[in-house]
Amino acid sequence: MKKNEEILKKKRKGSGKPEHELDMSLLTPEQQEFLKREEKIDRINERMNRPVIGITYICAFLFVGLISYILHFMIVEKDQVISNAANTRLDRYAANVIRGDIMTSDGKKIATNRNGSRYYPYGKLFAHVAGYSDYSKAGIELVGNYYLLESHANPFERMVHTLREEKNMGDTVISTLNYELQEAAYDAMSGADGAVVAMEPDTGKILAMVSKPDFDPNDIDEVWKEANTNPDSSMLLNRASQGLYPPGSTFKLLTTLSFMRQKPFGFMTYSYDCEKKEEIFNGVSVHCYGRKTHGEEDLSLALANSCNQAYADIGTKLNVRKWRETMEEFLFNKSLPYTDASAVSRFLLDAKSDKGYIPQTAFGQGDTLISPLHNAMITATIANGGLMMKPYLIDSVENYKGSRIRKFSPSSYDTLMTSKEVEILTSYMRRVVTEGTAAPYFSGAEYEAAGKTGTAEYENGAHDYSWFVGFASLEQPEIVVSVIVEQSDVNGVKASAVARRIFDTYYSLEGH
Ligand SMILES: [Zn+2]
Repeated sequence: MKKNEEILKKKRKGSGKPEHELDMSLLTPEQQEFLKREEKIDRINERMNRPVIGITYICAFLFVGLISYILHFMIVEKDQVISNAANTRLDRYAANVIRGDIMTSDGKKIATNRNGSRYYPYGKLFAHVAGYSDYSKAGIELVGNYYLLESHANPFERMVHTLREEKNMGDTVISTLNYELQEAAYDAMSGADGAVVAMEPDTGKILAMVSKPDFDPNDIDEVWKEANTNPDSSMLLNRASQGLYPPGSTFKLLTTLSFMRQKPFGFMTYSYDCEKKEEIFNGVSVHCYGRKTHGEEDLSLALANSCNQAYADIGTKLNVRKWRETMEEFLFNKSLPYTDASAVSRFLLDAKSDKGYIPQTAFGQGDTLISPLHNAMITATIANGGLMMKPYLIDSVENYKGSRIRKFSPSSYDTLMTSKEVEILTSYMRRVVTEGTAAPYFSGAEYEAAGKTGTAEYENGAHDYSWFVGFASLEQPEIVVSVIVEQSDVNGVKASAVARRIFDTYYSLEGH
């Protein structure tokens, strides 16, 4: 029998060849009989299998198609469907579910329902970040839309509701926002326009996000009408993530990093004598803020003093192509890895640019633009030892009774700095706070902060933006703050003072 199987194997191996190729005369009568029998069975099987194979193929095709569609829907279309308020599928969800609540991480309800309408108990306080659920949707109302319209209430309860044609209660979105910090940031901005972002450097959790001018989301009908009839209205714009500003002197951190990378030995012995009220670099006149002179400085002191002339000088020593590469590694000219809408920061300088743009670009003026969120992410990268985390707003989802349905984990973008670079930049940023431009705002603080201030002129020097980016504490960075105040010369609100108030609040919270 074993021999028979070998013959069969030999024959089948040559499948597709004419049968007579196997010399039948060499086989015993039993072997010939066996082979004929097997061939008959093969033919029958083949005939029977034809439609079976056909059906299997069709089923497999349909199945693969179905799976691909489900995957495609889950990965690609879900977000689009969720983002599209007009989508009929979600309308059907909405028809069966009462939109869930949005909470802060410390248990305050910031979006709920009252008398059949959406209600925001804190009004303007969480305006942009909580967003609104009508019209095009925005903020957490948009990025959490899917979860707010899902119901994980008790299955029996859901069944009863369905039978009675009643709506089920949607799930609760627990945001990463902290009520106390949001309030501190909001109050510290006072009447000034601008934005604040506070985040955890090691997780990317956004703790506070303020944008002014603001609006009351309870009055979204009027707000929407106003925003769509007045072309100058930028009330609905979330300046924290969608606003673009000249980075001013906060950009000196990135110029410092580029200089360290391009002159790994030269930066340590760098010195500049800021002795004249103005100096010419690449044919352009540069002066320090308030036309001050800073005298002899090394790199660390030049950053602490925020000396424009020293940084204009450093700019002329940089290879522009490599400089731009570093900036693009840090997400300039690229989309931010963030789920809500965000602006693309801009760094335009390249090898072909007019050399006159180099000095201004080095100290944060020129054509460079950045969003407050992006500046927070860069600062958080320094605070987190060089690893950039993706910022996020939703911590977890619970059913309406408080049982956890899902938890979102922090995720990293990339390692963008070495620990040596982090160590040097951190020591420079500490000096800004202890003896540099931020020192007057941080005297008597019970924690050690590190940061960088910025004053950017705009409208041809008619007004000032005031910036602060920084973190605390020095030894154990737990909170990063990025603040931009528009027209700080008029409203008197200084970004460093806003940051101080947020840090103070953070360290007064329970557990610190
Ligand atoms: Zn100077």
